[in-house]
Amino acid sequence: MTGREIVQPCDLIVDGCMVLLPDLQVVEDHSIAIIGDSIAAIGPRDEIKKAYHPVSVIDGQGKLAMPGFIDAHTHLAQQLLRGGVVDEPPIVWQRILVPFENRLTFDNLYHGARLACVQMAKAGITCFADSGTGDMEPIIRAAIETGMRANIARMSRDYGSFIPDRFKDTPRVVVRKTEELYKAYHGGANDRIHIAFSATSLQTTSPEFLELVAGAARQYGTILHIHLAEHLKEVEQCLTQFGLRPVEYLAAHGALGPNLLGAHAVQLADREIAMLAEHEAKVVHCPASNLGSHGFPKTPTLLALGVIVGMGTDGASAIDLDMFPLMRLLKSAVNARFGLPTFDPFTLPLTDLYRMPTINSAAALQLQDIAGSLEAGMKADIVLLRWMEPQFYPAQRVFPTLVMVANARDVNDVIIDGQVIVKNRQHQLVDEKEVMRRAREQMDSILKRP
Ligand SMILES: [Zn+2]
Repeated sequence: MTGREIVQPCDLIVDGCMVLLPDLQVVEDHSIAIIGDSIAAIGPRDEIKKAYHPVSVIDGQGKLAMPGFIDAHTHLAQQLLRGGVVDEPPIVWQRILVPFENRLTFDNLYHGARLACVQMAKAGITCFADSGTGDMEPIIRAAIETGMRANIARMSRDYGSFIPDRFKDTPRVVVRKTEELYKAYHGGANDRIHIAFSATSLQTTSPEFLELVAGAARQYGTILHIHLAEHLKEVEQCLTQFGLRPVEYLAAHGALGPNLLGAHAVQLADREIAMLAEHEAKVVHCPASNLGSHGFPKTPTLLALGVIVGMGTDGASAIDLDMFPLMRLLKSAVNARFGLPTFDPFTLPLTDLYRMPTINSAAALQLQDIAGSLEAGMKADIVLLRWMEPQFYPAQRVFPTLVMVANARDVNDVIIDGQVIVKNRQHQLVDEKEVMRRAREQMDSILKRP
């Protein structure tokens, strides 16, 4: 040792904060050094100060750093439908959602998506998976401009009497449209944008289309995003038409594999859960919509058999885009449904719960090597919460307090891909008031349209 320290340049340091580490321990007075789009080092404040010379610094005093949330199933096209599906009789997607999306123009989608992206970033959601509407270009544009990381699928259906013509086509044309999107955008914006293939619902997917789209997803190495076992109606139709339950139907046509993202996954038979586990398929619960109209997901069985369970909001038409209360909702529901009857208070431990919107959602989007936890080498997708608040400070145990108490409004700063996107609760890339004003104009124009 010469006694001389080598000081390395870095772009950004988050200085002197608490950090939630991958083992779910929380360390105090640490700093995070960021070079380019990635975390270079996390360590005690003094060590990072000696080792790195930053271009800029974010003050981490009184803040807790955690990985950005990943909303693994959402619908940005439904952003301007806020409050529009609450207390409505079923079947909401056929009666309200599809006709609403059928009326949307490019500008409606673009300004709605910008609002969604601003709302998500301010809630600590740094990455989302949109399961798609007819036109995804305005949504991709909004994601790029607002600095978000996103996995984008296009609405993909090849039949259904209640589906407007613009939302369905022959299997080959549907697959070709996603191929075009893939070629234009996959890997764009410093690899923040990924494109996925999808079969939006098994109720509008023929066997021929399922085989074609599953093959395309394998060929391009993308995820296959499907609404899976969401409604009893879907299970009933699958059984009536094909004599198979939804997961069996996927398996029969080569669509069940590690790249499958099955959104919702509520109405599953135990043997379907075993098949999901065997094929390493991923599922994504959306607790607010699941408990509202679909039922209790069999989360303890899914976890016991080793299925990776991510989490999603399912969009803003009925709820806030806030992953914190969704975690607590799922914990309470699972405990009430499965824990209480058998006097098992540990049906869904906080450690398993917290992994859902972080590392599990990352795995569902094939991002497990770059997102979902804070460690050197991962992308710098970091959320800073204001911790010196009466609801948090002091806490005997920080991690349980974080999961059980925090909300979107506690998010103070957000870094995505190494770029500061939210600072002191203000979006740094767009004028929030302007985004809201334009969204209001678009919503009004939709409401006036016949
Ligand atoms: Zn959905």
